[in-house]
Amino acid sequence: MLSQTDSPEVQVLKTVFGYDAFRGPQADIVRHVAAGADALVLMPTGGGKSLCYQVPALLRGATAIVVSPLIALMKDQVDALRQLGVRAAYLNSSLGAYEAREVEEALRHGELQLLYVAPERLMTPRFLDLLDRSEVSLFAIDEAHCVSQWGHDFRPEYLQLAVLAERYPHVPRLALTATADEATRREIVEKLHLQGARQFISSFDRPNIHYRIVEKNNALRQLLEFIRAEHDGDAGIVYCLSRKSVEESAAWLAAQGVSALPYHAGLGPEVRARHQERFLREEGLVMVATVAFGMGIDKPNVRFVAHLDLPKSLEGYYQETGRAGRDGLPSTVLMTYGLADVVSVRRMLASSTAPEPVRRVEGQKLDALLAFAESAQCRRQVLLRYFGEELSAPCGNCDTCQNPCETWDALVAAQKLLSAAVRTGNRFGAGHLIDILLGKDSPRVRALGHHQLSVYGLGSELSERQWRSVVRQLVALGYLTTDAGGHGSLIVTPAARALLKGECALRLRRDSDKPVKSARRPAA
Ligand code: ADP
Ligand code: ZN
Repeated sequence: MLSQTDSPEVQVLKTVFGYDAFRGPQADIVRHVAAGADALVLMPTGGGKSLCYQVPALLRGATAIVVSPLIALMKDQVDALRQLGVRAAYLNSSLGAYEAREVEEALRHGELQLLYVAPERLMTPRFLDLLDRSEVSLFAIDEAHCVSQWGHDFRPEYLQLAVLAERYPHVPRLALTATADEATRREIVEKLHLQGARQFISSFDRPNIHYRIVEKNNALRQLLEFIRAEHDGDAGIVYCLSRKSVEESAAWLAAQGVSALPYHAGLGPEVRARHQERFLREEGLVMVATVAFGMGIDKPNVRFVAHLDLPKSLEGYYQETGRAGRDGLPSTVLMTYGLADVVSVRRMLASSTAPEPVRRVEGQKLDALLAFAESAQCRRQVLLRYFGEELSAPCGNCDTCQNPCETWDALVAAQKLLSAAVRTGNRFGAGHLIDILLGKDSPRVRALGHHQLSVYGLGSELSERQWRSVVRQLVALGYLTTDAGGHGSLIVTPAARALLKGECALRLRRDSDKPVKSARRPAA
């Protein structure tokens, strides 16, 4: 209901968009930008970034230019705005010459309130020339982290957007992103010349999401038990690394009576569109997908997200898990994770042909993810700290808070394992090294003469499973690495020297031998 005392921003929000109130920092951002100042908005996906430029666009008159790399989403956004009676249009490579000309004419005649443009189109001399002759009230630069050369979404055209600051010094600029690490933020400010811009940084905490990571033994079975026990009949997303595992997992779940659909880039566009449509419209479907699925998907009641394979970074994990519980109701995210995952992502990194600085950053991102997976601390604290946010107390709504995990002094065990690797020339995988430590009398051990090593049989205090947990954590912590050749050989790294000399302490997580029983969900 409109009231006499409503500010102009709230009036637009109510009358045009049909919402009652701004959410979180939206009101401050809208006021700031509508007044003509620059801003950098950092808000998690689903937080409501669009209104931050749409409302000021309508308040400021003339035309707001929205730069977005997501060509596939432009049409939907523009259609939605038109439905609300907003004069919006888009320009990208999907338009024919005639349609494009019409949009350009509309811009020049001041008939548009919002124009969405792909960055490569914006930066053409022809379009800049057109802008010079048009009245522009605002530049909104969406997905601003695409300027980051070290990020996985880097777009060279985004670097050229720096031109806007020089060419249109009096037009306010608003950069928006959901990628929030400190380094990326600094890069956006620098590359887009936003030194004077006010920064609006929202909390990345999603309190209604319960975080859980379990040791992988049979990922699909574990997933099925999880769904049956906690999310029977709920909508969910299951992420797998490969198209093949997407297909197989979806088929297996369906055979077990779960309504599951596959989604990956190898399926035809019609199949993808149909599956996505069904997921959005029907209740209780489980989408088994590669990371190709999810961008721009706005389904509020996704009750769980599961990762059967390790994501590439903590940012990726956060984005993908963030698709759960947009409606604010309790939701669970589950990741199954094991030694083979660590080995295969480390191998992928090692064999990458990317330039050295990119590889180094990718390595750091992976390390952060592994540290998160192996942490004995509150998951939420670790996750938020990565995004530069400090949560003062453990959250009480993650697996480590609810089932505090024990740690143990693993220095001697680690020394035994590292020695076994060193003594055998860093040429063997986890299975063989563990066989040696457990004193297994296998033909392979004999043939290689490894029963004569001093470490042979020296590790019987731990079970094979416990040794695997030690190996996994040593790889995750960077004391062991795997060969680039893909044979799974474990190689002791220079970092392990201090451990071998006993110059530092090592505490590892004790993986519970029982399956993790889920604690009751707390009220959100
Ligand atoms: P983002 O771009 O940050 O991922 P969107 O701008 O797409 O988020 O908004 C996510 C969802 O939240 C959309 O469905 C949008 O309509 C809704 N939304 C945003 N702001 C509000 C608000 N103030 N009141 C109600 N719904 C809102
Ligand atoms: Zn916690």
